Amino acid sequence: VKITFTPIRLQGSEMVGLVAVLEDVTEQEKLDRQRKDFVANVSHELRTPLTTIKSYLEALDDGAVNDPELASRFLQVTRQEADRMTRLIHDLLQLSRLDAKQSRFHKKAIHMEEMLEDVVDRFAFQCKQKEIKLSLHITESLPRIYADRDKLDQVLDNLLSNAVKYTLEGGSIAVIAERRPDGMVEVSIADTGIGIPKKDLGRIFERFYRVDKARSRSLGGTGLGLAIAREIVRAHGGDISIDSIYRKGTTVSFTLPPCEPEVVR
Ligand code: ADP
Repeated sequence: VKITFTPIRLQGSEMVGLVAVLEDVTEQEKLDRQRKDFVANVSHELRTPLTTIKSYLEALDDGAVNDPELASRFLQVTRQEADRMTRLIHDLLQLSRLDAKQSRFHKKAIHMEEMLEDVVDRFAFQCKQKEIKLSLHITESLPRIYADRDKLDQVLDNLLSNAVKYTLEGGSIAVIAERRPDGMVEVSIADTGIGIPKKDLGRIFERFYRVDKARSRSLGGTGLGLAIAREIVRAHGGDISIDSIYRKGTTVSFTLPPCEPEVVR
């Protein structure tokens, strides 16, 4: 709490009282801290791949370049790390555009069924390779939604790629869509994966927050996927939530408002 005192004086100079203003600066301090943490995280996340690239280049310089097999392996690592930096910068730019409300949303009336069938098709191959059973469940006809198809595809891609990343071979992923009693359309992605410990659940949408940094990195994650998904869903007037049981599985659900009648016409 920030306290400021202002003296109250009568016409002359005699002080007859004090006005004390108590300001709750918790929110401001929290924002400041988050901003500082974010900058520190970005620097760290960019420096890690750079350090790796530099050390492999030095090893090449020190002679590895003369061993074709070794050289090819080292070059592959540097390429992978450069790809990681590209992904990270792409995600950061996207977040910063969403933050600045500069992202353009090209909204149209969209059939949810079609969009979900397409995303399930996109992930069919990856799931087959990992022997993960992927299914789509739409039990009733859904109202159309008014949304930016590319942005929503990104939300679905982020959530499904997490489900695939954090589900072991032989597991299953279900994509479920339904209309809620309040009229919102709800899409859930439920996996039987590694789950998230309860203590981490509350922070999982924070930028760069990861349960296991090493695991996320080795799977190619940037730690920004859920944060981006949340920004996009909220910009559509919906919300996103996560539920998980450690070692059992995770369900991420998001809601979207249905098309206004005048938009449908
Ligand atoms: P990342 O690029 O690390 O996957 P995300 O923002 O997409 O970043 O997710 C943040 C963290 O949330 C992940 O590192 C992981 O620990 C956890 N997580 C997200 N989705 C799942 C899931 N389906 N199952 C288990 N853990 C998950």
